[in-house]
Amino acid sequence: MGIGIDLGGTAIKGGIVNHRGVIQEERRVKTQSQMGYDRVVSDLAALINELVQLSPEETTVGIGIPGILSGDGSTVVSCPNLNWKNKALKQDLEAVLALEVLLVNDATAACIAEAAFGSTRGRTSSVLLTLGTGVGGGVIINDRIISGAHGVASEAGHMIMEENFYDCNCGKNGCLETFASATALIRYCQKQLDEGVESELKKDDTYDAKRIFDAAKAGDVLALAAVNRLAKYLGWAISNINDLIDPGIFVIGGGLSEAGDFLLNRIQASAKSCLTYPQYAMPEIVLATFRNEAGLIGAANLRQFI
Ligand code: BGC
Ligand code: ZN
Repeated sequence: MGIGIDLGGTAIKGGIVNHRGVIQEERRVKTQSQMGYDRVVSDLAALINELVQLSPEETTVGIGIPGILSGDGSTVVSCPNLNWKNKALKQDLEAVLALEVLLVNDATAACIAEAAFGSTRGRTSSVLLTLGTGVGGGVIINDRIISGAHGVASEAGHMIMEENFYDCNCGKNGCLETFASATALIRYCQKQLDEGVESELKKDDTYDAKRIFDAAKAGDVLALAAVNRLAKYLGWAISNINDLIDPGIFVIGGGLSEAGDFLLNRIQASAKSCLTYPQYAMPEIVLATFRNEAGLIGAANLRQFI
């Protein structure tokens, strides 16, 4: 058994997961990111303590972080979507918990879960893209997790695709994240509505990515255009990554992967249209077995893999 946490832009999920990747217990609280770092730390500590009560023999907790970590895994160097910079999270949590805290990038955690128990089991190389509040990347090559010289090696969400109409939370313009995240999908629809485009989505409604996918599946022209745009850029990104490392398989995870084949088919079509050697080196592109739970499952099993 292991305790894992997935710290996301909208929720903190915690769970007890067995060593075959099966979630035994799960709890979640909303992320209060606008209330700042201290509030998130106290929410994390409360959630972890609740899980420890259910599984008192645990001595470590793994936490998937939506940002980049220092080489020793102790400090969150940057977390664009929570607006954190240089936070000593390991130390701050260990000061109030009786457990060892292991930090890992959230997309890397998801990549680990899929490699250990899911879609890429038995493969030596794989790339996972998580599509949620942000876009994350996890890369395993020849059974090694790739984090690079500074821990930013798999930050696929901040590869620049082309100029976009709004800036990324990392400070740049044109990042994949601004085309292919849940945030991007919503912002694109809002912009189109502001410009007067007709849709069943209404300008002043609050709607989430799931609502956009539902509208797209029902044939709403704007929602469908938004999903097709997102899939187009993901296909481009996959083609670019494939040219660089040819992993053989790409996994789509995160909250948007819940849209299933409707999204996957479009990403595959886009990638196929722009791969350099489509007949020879077409990678498999699959949905994460554990969809949006992969990060949590990987975080709970870190000890076995890092
Ligand atoms: C962060 C990544 C993270 C991803 C998904 C991006 O904005 O830079 O580190 O994996 O969001 O949460
Ligand atoms: Zn960015």
